[in-house]
Amino acid sequence: MRATFLPFSIPTIGEEEINEVVDSLKSGWITTGPKVKRFEEAFKSYTGAPYAVPLSSATAGLHLVMLALKLQPGDEVITTPMTFAATVSMIVQGGGTPVLADIEPGTLNIDLQAIRAKITPRTRAIVPVHFAGQPCAMNEIFALAREFGLRVIEDAAHAVGTEYRGARIGSLDSVSVFSFHPIKNITTGEGGMVATGDELLAEEISLMKFHGMNKEAWKRYESSGTPNYDIVMPGFKYNMMDLQAALGLHQLAKLDGFIAKRSELAEFYNQAFADVAEVATPQPVPYAHRHAWHLYTPLIRTEALSIDRDAFMAQLKLENIGSGLHFKAIHHHPYYRDALGIAPGELPNADYASDRILSLPLFPLMTPDDARDVVAAVKTVIARNRR
Ligand SMILES: *Cc1c(COP(=O)(O)O)cnc(C)c1O
Repeated sequence: MRATFLPFSIPTIGEEEINEVVDSLKSGWITTGPKVKRFEEAFKSYTGAPYAVPLSSATAGLHLVMLALKLQPGDEVITTPMTFAATVSMIVQGGGTPVLADIEPGTLNIDLQAIRAKITPRTRAIVPVHFAGQPCAMNEIFALAREFGLRVIEDAAHAVGTEYRGARIGSLDSVSVFSFHPIKNITTGEGGMVATGDELLAEEISLMKFHGMNKEAWKRYESSGTPNYDIVMPGFKYNMMDLQAALGLHQLAKLDGFIAKRSELAEFYNQAFADVAEVATPQPVPYAHRHAWHLYTPLIRTEALSIDRDAFMAQLKLENIGSGLHFKAIHHHPYYRDALGIAPGELPNADYASDRILSLPLFPLMTPDDARDVVAAVKTVIARNRR
């Protein structure tokens, strides 16, 4: 067994990030300012998005995008049960009714036939989640959206650096919401970005993110600016700080290297578990893509074991291996179990995955020895608990 505990994720923060934060601290300007603007520009050029709006989190981005849809009571938004609560909670906070469509069993992305089956005259939008960093079948989702006149909002929290048929997520003809939470592929501490080709949407979100103020605050303090401002709507306080963008600028520059490391580790896991019947490894989507490998999420076939997934994770921890849960299906949470009224067996693939999924350690600073320790611990726990 390993001598020290291996967490399932650690952010990769270098001297460049540290020096840039210190530079902001010493500069006299720590909140939204020139570094946020630079990060926005760098993000646009990396993703190919025509417009990008830096925010305090992806949750904030989802909230503002949902509000911009101007949903009426009873309006429905279709999304996946295999996501973080924020995806669904922000549909509710935007005034919509979330509708869950089942996932594909191998990729755990939302299933196209399941989306189609859930479309009603009240459906307004589809929110695909690029699960673990693997792109959803966007051409088909856009075709469905065109057929029924729906908006598409990509929850791209896992998908910074993901490519779909040669195009980066963020550059497709929709709106994408990215997260820079510490476990995501790049981090700003907390932070998020909305990327879109829709200029009016980008303007509306920019206005909403900072008090509904018609100018960004920092420009008022520039020599050319004037201190006066107008409030043109009741807005929020969802702006990103320069302290956060200082991290993001260097993280973004390192992203392709991070993804290369994550891909190597994921490939090692895939091979190591290929002949372990109790481990169902994540399956690739059948079209051209680059997987950003935000998470490595096998399903543990607990039907072959005498313990459940939670006990499996507890035993991994005793072997000094951390793991994460991404995700317990939305309709398994008490609030949504009661609020959504999903019938038993309505989302069988999500139910199956929800009870068996775990996230194994995956982060760029992991060594090959760390990965070997993870595989050894998983095999040990399986051998100990085989039926
Ligand atoms: C992390 C995550 C979010 C929320 O991101 P924050 O930046 O923490 O608000 C939303 N959706 C998914 C799928 C996520 O994994």
